[in-house]
Amino acid sequence: MSTFSEHEQFCAEAEAFAFRFRCGDCFHMSPADGRCIFGYPNVALHDSDSPVLLAKGQWIFCKYFELS
Ligand code: SF4
Repeated sequence: MSTFSEHEQFCAEAEAFAFRFRCGDCFHMSPADGRCIFGYPNVALHDSDSPVLLAKGQWIFCKYFELS
């Protein structure tokens, strides 16, 4: 479980280093409809304004991400 400050730090570092990890930058996202070509449920990584931290505090990343 992460803390709010850890999430803020991650977001600041992701912006500072232009870290890419979301579906919109992944080779495996279909540009036609925004869906993952593997069929993974990618709403949290694709649409969320609060990347990688779910409401209950779990971090989420996709291990199949490939920079497009
Ligand atoms: S492989 Fe992972 S990061 Fe890439 S589009 Fe699918 S769910 Fe998103």
